[in-house]
Amino acid sequence: MPTRTLNAVVSEPVFVTAEAMILRVAPDGWELPDYVPGQFAVLGLPGHAPRIPLSDPEDEPPDPDRFITRAYSIASSSKQKEYLEFYISLVRSGALTPRLFALKRGQKVHLGPKISGMFTLNQIPEDADLILMGTGTGIAPYISMIRTFITPGSSRRFAVVHGARHSWDLGYRSELSSLDRMVEGFDYVPIISRPGEEIIPWGGESGYVQDVWKRGIIADLWDREPSPDNTHIFLCGNPGMVNDTQEMLAADGYLEHTRKQPGQVHLERYW
Ligand SMILES: Cc1cc2nc3c(=O)[nH]c(=O)nc-3n(C[C@H](O)[C@H](O)[C@H](O)COP(=O)(O)OP(=O)(O)OC[C@H]3O[C@@H](n4cnc5c(N)ncnc54)[C@H](O)[C@@H]3O)c2cc1C
Repeated sequence: MPTRTLNAVVSEPVFVTAEAMILRVAPDGWELPDYVPGQFAVLGLPGHAPRIPLSDPEDEPPDPDRFITRAYSIASSSKQKEYLEFYISLVRSGALTPRLFALKRGQKVHLGPKISGMFTLNQIPEDADLILMGTGTGIAPYISMIRTFITPGSSRRFAVVHGARHSWDLGYRSELSSLDRMVEGFDYVPIISRPGEEIIPWGGESGYVQDVWKRGIIADLWDREPSPDNTHIFLCGNPGMVNDTQEMLAADGYLEHTRKQPGQVHLERYW
């Protein structure tokens, strides 16, 4: 097992809600390697790191000196190399996230120096349009792609579909809404599953990410039916959403992309 150290420093966490935060992590005395938007890095803390009070108590405390590590998609643009940004949700019963949520500005964390993953736009034809669907923090890899690749005048269409329970759980909503207004060919479709709990009445889509496909919302926005010939679809986050949507897309002729068999559907399951 590689030796792990507290080799990075966190900036002020930005809380989207009490259970979702945006965290920037900078390497301490070393340089970030090159990476491709959509890839992930590993964060870790030792077992003795404190947990936030909001989390569930642990049945058995972990080995205090052993690092607990997990993968996190990078949300920052690969064009800037000072830090990596992550969008992390709290799993109250989890081993690592209750410790990450207890981090304060300037504290140390382990950042794995190797950045990996195949959930990227490499190998996607340049003229293919993209539908990027995610639940919760599963929007993170798309933020990196968008921040890196959306440029004025780019001809490729991007549609970002983000599902959450409430409007206040939709991290990056302002950034994505602004892009929707300002960038020709960029569409943002937030969808919430509990509109009845909204304080300010919700005028957007209600239901689940899958419903956006079922209702033909992208076809209406694009004024044409997306087809496997000209569209690649990315699915990220909750495995239930990924599996259901993949099944639905398969019925419409979209194949899963694997190392052995090129296809138009790209999957990243968070657990
Ligand atoms: C390639 C990859 C990229 C990932 N990127 C992100 C990311 O950008 N942001 C992010 O918040 N998470 C991401 N994850 C999930 C992350 O690696 C951890 O699994 C998660 O933070 C929980 O860690 P934990 O130690 O607190 O919980 P653990 O002790 O590992 O318990 C995890 C268990 O909690 C449940 N669970 C409930 N909600 C979640 C959830 N949102 N994520 C994972 N498990 C959940 C599942 O049953 C799971 O088995 C990614 C996972 C993978 C494989």
